[in-house]
Amino acid sequence: MVLLATLSVAGVVATQLMWLGRAQRYEREQVLLQQQHQAQLDKQFNDRVTIALTDVTERILSITKDPSDLFDAVKQERPNYFVVSINDTIHPYLLESLLEQEFKRRNINEDFEYGIYDCFTDSIVYGNYVSLGDSLPADSARHSRLLKLDKDGHYFGVYFPRRASSTPPQPKAETLNWLYPAAVAFIVFAFFAYSMWVILRQKRLGEMKNDFIGNMTHELKTPISTIALSSAVLSEPGIAQEPKRLQNYARIIHTENERLRQQVERVLQLATMDEGMQKLEREPVNMHDLLRETVASFELLLQQHGGTCSLDLRAANPLVTGDRVHLGNVLFNLVDNAVKYAKGEPCVHITTSNTANDLVIAVADQGIGIRKEDLRNIFERFFRVHTGNVHNVKGFGLGLHYVAETVRAHGGRVHVASTLGKGSTFTVDLPLDKTAANNPTT
Ligand code: ADP
Repeated sequence: MVLLATLSVAGVVATQLMWLGRAQRYEREQVLLQQQHQAQLDKQFNDRVTIALTDVTERILSITKDPSDLFDAVKQERPNYFVVSINDTIHPYLLESLLEQEFKRRNINEDFEYGIYDCFTDSIVYGNYVSLGDSLPADSARHSRLLKLDKDGHYFGVYFPRRASSTPPQPKAETLNWLYPAAVAFIVFAFFAYSMWVILRQKRLGEMKNDFIGNMTHELKTPISTIALSSAVLSEPGIAQEPKRLQNYARIIHTENERLRQQVERVLQLATMDEGMQKLEREPVNMHDLLRETVASFELLLQQHGGTCSLDLRAANPLVTGDRVHLGNVLFNLVDNAVKYAKGEPCVHITTSNTANDLVIAVADQGIGIRKEDLRNIFERFFRVHTGNVHNVKGFGLGLHYVAETVRAHGGRVHVASTLGKGSTFTVDLPLDKTAANNPTT
């Protein structure tokens, strides 16, 4: 999903960038074409004007009977201003009529103004505004000031006021062009990010629920089988003659039933929870009492398998703050595994001790042990050691994961030391109950 989402967002962005690039290239090309076209038109116009003005000069020379050759007399001083050098002063009306004739002949239908350089005043004397096109003549009172050139000799200037005086500025690139694609890309990205977040959250929740259901199923199985065993004993024909045994099994059924009830209640509570860590009902718990209860619930099983479970409760302070049910399940799982993975008759030894801040519970067995390479995985969810048919024990691979998670939620740690074929020791460190630190009870 992450890969697909990343690819799609990258694809959208890349496509948009590509199109944006193309659009900009196309725009630049269009502008360039327009400019080229305009430049061509301008050149044609300038050439026509130059030829027309040269013709005008020649005609002036022929009228004044001047034999000199005014080579290169026409100069374009600005894109819209031409200056023509002549040998003598010329009458404005003659010049105007010549200009008009030549321009019309050359198809130059642009309005123009002309002026003649006057030596006495050393300035260009305005001639007239001549309208050749369809446009209305400009107010001749507000005529342009024709540019005087810094040169000697007679000359006249022709100015085209309707033409641009300089080359057109380059159109500015559209800087906001990228805004729309960027907004779309951002929306797509935000949509994908949000979808990913929702999907991952749902996935995590689903996993958590599965995890929890798996854990609880595992926890429910053992009491059910203990009750089944005890009730089988109670239905033996001679049991009424042994009131002590009868009482014992009835008590076991009662305890296990109570455990079941508590667990079912927890399932119902947690099933209504949508998310978050399992809420722990914290209270001071005497772990020695809990250990005794746990071991008692295995009594029957151990008797059947001919095994033993010894308790060596040395801790001066067995009080921890935690959830009684979950802590009971932790102990139950450890003892259950010690019995399940026994080599022959189960032999479990449980010790408790105190460090400065912790209660240390060690559950040791002399069972099949765990290989070194499996040790780092056994706390993972669903992990089970492959034993083939040698030791066919049923399980979901959830017990130790549950132990690790619960102990961590209580601020404690779990360790394991094991030698293959010799046995394992699971050690649980739980922080001591702070409120009872000064008032230890064994
Ligand atoms: P399950 O017992 O349901 O398979 P657990 O999470 O309790 O799941 O245990 C994971 C694996 O760790 C087991 O499959 C088993 O191979 C190994 N294991 C756990 N406890 C012991 C033990 N006391 N002795 C040997 N192996 C154990």
